[in-house]
Amino acid sequence: MRNNKLQIIPLGGLGEIGKNCLAVRCGSDIVVVDCGLMFPEEELLGIDVVIPDVSYLVDHRQLVRSVVLTHGHEDHIGALPYVLPQINVPVYGTRLTLGLLEGKLEEHLPGFKADLRVVKPRDIVECGCFKVEFIRVSHSIPDAVAVAIHTPLGVLLHTGDFKIDHTPVDGELIDFHRLAQLGERGVLVLLSDSTNAEHPGYTMSERVVGETFDEIFRSSQGRIIIATFASNIHRVQQAILVAHRYGRKVAVAGRSMVNVVNIAHQLGYLQLPEGIMVELEEANRLPRHQVAILTTGSQGEPMSALTRMASGDFKQLEIIPGDTIIISAVPIPGNEKLVARVVDQLFKRGAMVLYEAVSAIHVSGHPCQEELKLMINLTRPRYFLPVHGEYRMLIRHAALARELGLPPENVFVAENGQIVEITPKGGRFAGRVTAGRVLVDGLGVGDVGNIVLRDRKQLAQDGILIVVVALNQETGQVVAGPDVISRGFVYVREAEALMEEVKAQVRVVLDRCVERKSLEWATIKSEVREALGRLLYERTRRRPMILPIIMGV
Ligand SMILES: [Zn+2]
Ligand SMILES: [Zn+2]
Repeated sequence: MRNNKLQIIPLGGLGEIGKNCLAVRCGSDIVVVDCGLMFPEEELLGIDVVIPDVSYLVDHRQLVRSVVLTHGHEDHIGALPYVLPQINVPVYGTRLTLGLLEGKLEEHLPGFKADLRVVKPRDIVECGCFKVEFIRVSHSIPDAVAVAIHTPLGVLLHTGDFKIDHTPVDGELIDFHRLAQLGERGVLVLLSDSTNAEHPGYTMSERVVGETFDEIFRSSQGRIIIATFASNIHRVQQAILVAHRYGRKVAVAGRSMVNVVNIAHQLGYLQLPEGIMVELEEANRLPRHQVAILTTGSQGEPMSALTRMASGDFKQLEIIPGDTIIISAVPIPGNEKLVARVVDQLFKRGAMVLYEAVSAIHVSGHPCQEELKLMINLTRPRYFLPVHGEYRMLIRHAALARELGLPPENVFVAENGQIVEITPKGGRFAGRVTAGRVLVDGLGVGDVGNIVLRDRKQLAQDGILIVVVALNQETGQVVAGPDVISRGFVYVREAEALMEEVKAQVRVVLDRCVERKSLEWATIKSEVREALGRLLYERTRRRPMILPIIMGV
């Protein structure tokens, strides 16, 4: 491929929220922006995480120059422990991003040597024919950057996740100047965050949450428990400072909260006033008005600290009347019911619960429409590609860009795997590469496919019936059995009549096979399966998995 062609190849994050991953190719050089994971929907039974299919990168391993990271959220770095062993290239990111990634790599791949290279905003690194520049943005995690990839055809600007916060908690503003400067000189193509493209107006500053915390702390007598995303270090910081202001000590509950607080503190992203942090046991001994607790579980995750507190099986801390609980997050779509159940249980324990529906205790980390327009107007791209969002969000974002005057033929709403190709003559869709999802279950990466999932669904819905029978290998006569075992289908002891009927039916099928002299076991099994399937559906209107086991003697 010649150097006068720029290919933009989204491998994840388009048409979905999560597993963001994008390849940029020019000539024989590929740079990858982010490589994240996604948490599975409910119908993916037993799946732990979902990662992008990166066959394209593996197949072109020798062309991949680097992975550049925009920030440390799971949906941007979470797939690297699975992908880096296949393409071990240099990984560039800011200090906190790489700090979080390092922890992840140690956990998943102890001993693995990754080539992690720390960058600062405005640094420029060379990756093949590309020069990659990092530009500070605001987001719900510190140290987030956009990346400007200087290519032989012009500048590709990828915003990563961002928002425009004029009063950021750490004082680090989005780098308006550099963005405007790039716009002035000419941006070839802009790729921008579409998560909130359906929402008009502006996203509020993170500082608003600190003000709400202040009001709540001022008026609460009992303990205050705050649940939020561990990675939202600015929010954790605000909670700690407000607690300090009102003379409270802070304890941390939940493994990921403990981890992130430690990493962020070590790297200098979290300021802890002298003596503010205490262990949970000590917090339990202090007067209630001197205690604040930070915890995970803002999504109602079943194993999280808050969920266990709500159901009364978090031993270190018991919810009591007079506690105030702040759930400082919105439920990610799909988690609404889990969160609602936790809120109900907390109320039942006599606590006061403040959640998004009733007060301003959360702001988004993503830009609303006015901020998206500002980004487009500042950078004035020739081509535009909405990224990070479900399909309708991409469509809304594309419409905004057209409203601002971008020619419709220069706006591309792409799908994962679809190549957008830009040459001096213009831009177009230019075919597809393999893209999709890879399911991770335990140590297995990609070994759970549609067939395994279909079995899991059947087992989950109607259970399994196992028939065991021993046959004489020559004659096909029954030597022992048939025995029937049921799991998740019916309770055998209460379905004796049905089980007898099942056994009788199996005998009928076996006799028929002997008569026909068809002693091929595969045939016998499939006939047993078919006959029982019909019988059980007639009797129960259920379709359990039927598993005949035949032993030869
Ligand atoms: Zn993010
Ligand atoms: Zn994201």
